[in-house]
Amino acid sequence: MSEEKRGSLYLSATPIGNLEDMTFRAVRMLGEADLIAAEDTRHTRKLLSHYDIHTAATSYHEHNKLTKGPELVAKMLAGAVIVCVSDAGLPGISDPGAHLAQLAVEAGIPVSPLPGANAALSALICSGLDTTAFAFYGFLPKSVKKRRELLENIKNHQETLIFYEAPHHLKETLHQLAEALGAGRRAVAARELTKRYEEFNRRSLGELLTYYQENEPRGEFVLLVEGYDASCQEAEESCVPAASPAELVQALEQQGLSRKEAMRETAKKLGMSRRDVYQLLLQQDV
Ligand code: SAM
Repeated sequence: MSEEKRGSLYLSATPIGNLEDMTFRAVRMLGEADLIAAEDTRHTRKLLSHYDIHTAATSYHEHNKLTKGPELVAKMLAGAVIVCVSDAGLPGISDPGAHLAQLAVEAGIPVSPLPGANAALSALICSGLDTTAFAFYGFLPKSVKKRRELLENIKNHQETLIFYEAPHHLKETLHQLAEALGAGRRAVAARELTKRYEEFNRRSLGELLTYYQENEPRGEFVLLVEGYDASCQEAEESCVPAASPAELVQALEQQGLSRKEAMRETAKKLGMSRRDVYQLLLQQDV
């Protein structure tokens, strides 16, 4: 190896769409390594072929990490240089890699990054939202209870919030984010980054929900939501109401408005379409 770090682990970024998003150094190191530990060897083989790299690859993923991790550590202790990659972006970020890094650190093996593409940060820097402080949550927990708890915990956080989501869960997640954080919050759906149909959809959470109810989400998405703004508490009209759509409709009905009027008023206050408010009420059986 030209960098002369025998017996070490490198964690290398790989493209999140555009095959050209590889650094010269990552390409060279992948070519010079003794072994590549890849989340999916067939997937990585396409990247390696593109760069004419012939290094041996072995699979390392969530389901074999407990047995494969120690084997890879033993190889590195014997002097091997291993580069760990995931299918896309940075290993260890919503992808395998973090556990191997931990094992290597515990074994006293040097661990180095080969930086590059990452969906969350690529989305953040182009979002137009605050980049000075942000929090990355990756995929929200699957359990409804844990999801609610997390959103409840972070609803007053002032930093920009970043989430990953699959297209078939996007609407459901937008709905829950709108409900927990307020439909009026500014948000961005960053889609298909670095690919042909790259798109930044900048709207309120409520408007994003309406948009994707009318336009089926396709491709890969990063969702970004602006942080809580304490000044919003006073300026209710333009900012985030604390109540969910259902709560607001019920409160307005108690003030004497008809269901139709309450839905219209709620839609206006939360920056949502009347149809969305109606559908939320139906879903929640209110
Ligand atoms: N390790 C990757 C990284 O560093 O960004 C993330 C891998 S995670 C399994 C995959 C998720 O990342 C997708 O579901 C999507 O939310 C996001 N993602 C990956 N590539 C993307 C792209 N080109 N455009 C938008 N989001 C992307």
